[in-house]
Amino acid sequence: MSAVDGPDIVAPDGGKMRDLLRVSPGAVDPRTVDPRSTPGLPAAAGGSRARKAWAREQVELLGAELGEQQEMLFATAKAAGEPDAPASAPTTGGAELAPGRPGRVLLVLQAMDCGGKDGTVKRVAGAMNPLGLHIRSFGPPTEEELRHDFLWRIRRALPPPGYVGVFNRSHYEDVLVARVAELVPEATWRARYDEINAFEHELVDAGVTLVKVMLHISREEQGERLLERLTDPRKHWKYNPSDLDSRARWDDYQAAYAEALQRCGTESAPWFVVPADRKWYRDWAVAHLLRETFAGLHLGYPAAGFDVERERDRLRADDEGVKVNGG
Ligand code: AMP
Ligand code: MG
Repeated sequence: MSAVDGPDIVAPDGGKMRDLLRVSPGAVDPRTVDPRSTPGLPAAAGGSRARKAWAREQVELLGAELGEQQEMLFATAKAAGEPDAPASAPTTGGAELAPGRPGRVLLVLQAMDCGGKDGTVKRVAGAMNPLGLHIRSFGPPTEEELRHDFLWRIRRALPPPGYVGVFNRSHYEDVLVARVAELVPEATWRARYDEINAFEHELVDAGVTLVKVMLHISREEQGERLLERLTDPRKHWKYNPSDLDSRARWDDYQAAYAEALQRCGTESAPWFVVPADRKWYRDWAVAHLLRETFAGLHLGYPAAGFDVERERDRLRADDEGVKVNGG
């Protein structure tokens, strides 16, 4: 096939990425994962100079295949009578998280500043079908958001059935920055791990497949990327002086990540740690995580909700009518 159609997708080496990168419940600390490592990268990737281009090409192929999966997800939801997502505005309130509704996939991206969340959205989601994507970013809560509990804005940002959601930051900020920067009392953030687990349990019961990814970069790599942002005037907009305050609390953030991963890495909503110092590896790994996640959903195309034979006859009759009328 490859001789005619170009390159094929090459499977990861040594097993599924979902197994290679998964945080085993209660056991992982991102500090034990080397941010420059490349788990699962096959020999086919080539040497140190070739593999970047190889990975980029693979991500394009993976994106196209994910696009087909997205279409099946969307078609299944539509066949079940789900309305299309409105073009804007919040969609899914918590009340709509009813069991038995068609599936949705939610990729949750968390990382330190410069960790590559935007790049992953651009490269991986960018290779997928934009029609079926529901991408949301979370910054500091607005005044209105602060009047509600921390999950309020998250519920409103959920993808509708049939869609692939991408969260660029998420409810985990409420046990990360909220904890390290002491935005709330300790008792408040401490209670949130259980609240997050209950919420995610609710999501899973409602047919939401979560893919929670920590993009794991080293302090050195963050330093280089911050310097790049300060050096290139075209990147100044990405820099925030508060990034250096967070950087100064590096160890506290790593500890906060470790606890979030340990407390909220569950059987039905596991965490994955993606070594992310190498951007091309990061994108390749996330694309495979999504591919394997979709494979586990065993999607197909829904049966027609109409009499196919009859519609074909009608079309034929219509065409003949046109021929008669049109001479
Ligand atoms: P960026 O991702 O560069 O656009 O920055 C978004 C900022 O929003 C980061 O500094 C986050 O720490 C901050 N942020 C996101 N969620 C929360 C939250 N729940 N509470 C406080 N700050 C948040
Ligand atoms: Mg930033």
